[in-house]
Amino acid sequence: MLKKFALPVIITALLCSILAGCSSAEKSSTAKAKDERPIMIQGPMPIEAEKLADRLEDVKKEKSGSFVFYIGKLDGYPVIVAKTGKGMENTAAATAVAIEKYNPAAIINQGTSGGHDTDLNVFDIVLGKRTVNLGSLKTGNLSEGGGIEPKKWIPMDLLASEGSAGEDPDAEKIRYFEGDKQLLEAANAVKDEYKTGKVVEGTIGSADVWNNEVDRINWFHDKFGTSVEEMEGAAGAQIAKAYDIPYLGIRILSNNKVNGGQYNPDTAEANQEFVYKVVNQYIKEK
Ligand code: SAH
Repeated sequence: MLKKFALPVIITALLCSILAGCSSAEKSSTAKAKDERPIMIQGPMPIEAEKLADRLEDVKKEKSGSFVFYIGKLDGYPVIVAKTGKGMENTAAATAVAIEKYNPAAIINQGTSGGHDTDLNVFDIVLGKRTVNLGSLKTGNLSEGGGIEPKKWIPMDLLASEGSAGEDPDAEKIRYFEGDKQLLEAANAVKDEYKTGKVVEGTIGSADVWNNEVDRINWFHDKFGTSVEEMEGAAGAQIAKAYDIPYLGIRILSNNKVNGGQYNPDTAEANQEFVYKVVNQYIKEK
């Protein structure tokens, strides 16, 4: 009797163990692949990306269009530094391309910015608790000869609905993109290690505009609560949100029109040093 059933039992047992082996091997490799989704750090200009790229180990450089991706490791963890180019369009496109190609676990958009707050000085750093597109505006209704009244322009939320933002009263509001909590936590955890200025949470405003009119800057500061302005953050934030990828803007002041802070390009390197610490901390927390 025993003999008669021995072979099928052994075969079944073998098959089961092979199948179990396969599925657990499969599971662990998916888990590993998931764990190892890279962290992406974006910088618009060469001076805002290349210091971080220099920090990477085992670097491979890839290009898509004009976007350059330095693919490597930071302390053994996969990190990609993206040189996106300046401005909203470059940033949005580079973010979408990077998400499709590299499936990052998180994105940090970093670089220089101009102050909107008299309490912030050149070399201070703003962690983007919120990011907002300062170019999303609707003008008032004025006929020919009625002039231009920028202070009466109203915020416009392009994500409010799929209908016409120009006609929809629900779209007449500010759209803020929230910075990711875990990334913010990591940045706050290392903020005391930054000695060249202070690190604060704030609101980053973005548009393809360099504002030098103090009244206009104050208008954004009062209406949108902006701490700084730059030309990329909100574009990346919108695309990261579309794909549900954790995102944080980290911006150093390179200039501040509202308190006379002169432009200093050395700030770009100081910010990358700080972001390097944030990424290390984030990896540790993960
Ligand atoms: N002065 C620099 C100009 C850089 S162009 C030069 O001559 O090279 C703008 C870039 O700087 C953008 O990537 C933007 O994010 C950042 N930036 C810094 N300060 C800014 C400000 N006050 N307004 C808008 N963008 C600013």
